[in-house]
Amino acid sequence: IKAMQQGTINIQTENIFPIIKKFLYSDTEIFLRELVSNAVDASQKLRTLSKTGEFNQEIKDLRVEVILDKDAKTITVRDNGIGMTADEVEKYINQIAFSGAKEFAEKYKDKDANAMIGAFGLGFYSAFMVSEKVRIQTLSYQDGAKAVEWESDGSPQFSMKEIEKNERGTDIILHIAEDSTEFLEEARLNEILSKYCKFLPIEIKFGTRKTFVEDPSGEKDENGNVKKIEKEIDNIINNTSPAWNKTPADLTEEDYKNFYNELYPFTEDPLFHIHLNVDYPFNLTGILYFPRLKNNMEVQKNKIQLYSNQVFITDNVENIVPDFLNLLHGVIDSPDIPLNVSRSYLQADSNVKKISNHINKKVADKLNQMFKDDREDFQSKWDDIEVFIQYGMLSDDKFYDRSEKFALLKNTKDEYFTFEEYKEKIKAAQTDKNDKLVCLYTHSADAHHALIENANDRGYDVLVMDSPLASHYIQKLEGKLNVSFARVDADTLDKLIQKDEEIPSKLSEKEQENLKPIFEGNVNKEKYVVQFESLSETEKPVQITQSEFMRRMKEQQALGGG
Ligand code: ADP
Ligand code: MG
Repeated sequence: IKAMQQGTINIQTENIFPIIKKFLYSDTEIFLRELVSNAVDASQKLRTLSKTGEFNQEIKDLRVEVILDKDAKTITVRDNGIGMTADEVEKYINQIAFSGAKEFAEKYKDKDANAMIGAFGLGFYSAFMVSEKVRIQTLSYQDGAKAVEWESDGSPQFSMKEIEKNERGTDIILHIAEDSTEFLEEARLNEILSKYCKFLPIEIKFGTRKTFVEDPSGEKDENGNVKKIEKEIDNIINNTSPAWNKTPADLTEEDYKNFYNELYPFTEDPLFHIHLNVDYPFNLTGILYFPRLKNNMEVQKNKIQLYSNQVFITDNVENIVPDFLNLLHGVIDSPDIPLNVSRSYLQADSNVKKISNHINKKVADKLNQMFKDDREDFQSKWDDIEVFIQYGMLSDDKFYDRSEKFALLKNTKDEYFTFEEYKEKIKAAQTDKNDKLVCLYTHSADAHHALIENANDRGYDVLVMDSPLASHYIQKLEGKLNVSFARVDADTLDKLIQKDEEIPSKLSEKEQENLKPIFEGNVNKEKYVVQFESLSETEKPVQITQSEFMRRMKEQQALGGG
């Protein structure tokens, strides 16, 4: 307890960064995301100022550079954006960010680093999670600005001085701490950059790479092709204009597939996609892909990547996307999703709910459209998407209602029916004694070949219900469609009863004659009928039922009639 108390006092007075570091530890890699996105912000601000005329020099290549120096044990994040004046460093780094850090320290119990970083404006300070010292060297775009250097080792003491710097923009120089040397590995930085920064809107350079280009001298080889020479080029790690930000009309099917491969290299092509583009009542863009599920629900979750203004945030979109849509792949980008708050808050957030509903509707609309536009094509995809749709219909009533029009049932002859069509198809032959439709099904068309043939011979149709969700789905359909489902086995076939078929009693006529008066003596003969023929699979030797006339009388009374 003593140690804790001391810690608490220290937070306020001395060195808060070890505490930040400790509590954000699980996610330290995001320091790079924060610094690179600050650099991108600074570049885009300059672009905006140029558009409004506040900045009137020509903007040459805006670019962010991440420079690794293993010997010096530094990582530098460099931009040629707006830069900061000494006053701005004072304001944005010393005051605002610092107050955020202070507030954080007071609430450090919550360990969700992602949430903390944004909520407390700690973006820049996340540098201290991996650094023993951080230096900022910056030159503002403003006329006559002087370059400044700020330096801190993570204690609230910092130093600031004027320096020589001729290039506009900011260098953030991290002196990597002993326990964070993993970040001095090129491969590790590459990994982080491609995770978080792959689609940022300003070019990000990380080192160089070798490639082959046509020989500028134009010299040809023996086949008459221009010779290729090896050349070192800048290694740009991002695609500055990802497909989801473009207009669907400008994209071909090929473009969508290519983008999918960019997201998930070396995977099978998706089935189809949905391009999301909303600007009211919230902003959201994105592309969702239907993977080929093939009755396999295990591998696919958490494949939707969530971005905020092209910065990768998470691939855990629980609560944002309806659970069943988690089987989809792709990208959602929304500046309106409150990324910087805890998950429980996210669940209650009305924007998040709206987004979730919207995606739900969009997906159903798209499926319906595909069904209407080209049913044959839709049917050809059905086996791949049925698990997904069944999952949706089971878990979300709104989705059930939207899907009723296009959800398909497949029979053993590979014919597909909507629910309405199927009811129509079997209504003549497959009803039980209560006139209820009976859908026969099998889990495996191959295994039950003889039974299916038998059923078909009797004029019955057999559905194939082979998805992993089949039993739940059958239950759902029984309730919703008011039908019953029966597995196609020898027993059900015999008992699938047309309503006036009767099974003869096992009692002899003599026995029946003797027994009848005994039963009738005990019930009101006017109102009840005693029968020895069983009307169903129930094995009861005698049935006492209300006569049809009495039943109707009662019904009318209940309705308030005569
Ligand atoms: P946020 O990005 O959420 O505002 P940060 O802690 O990441 O919070 O950054 C604090 C502020 O410092 C920024 O808003 C910006 O004004 C300034 N800043 C940080 N990095 C840069 C940079 N590379 N160029 C110019 N200004 C910067
Ligand atoms: Mg920031």
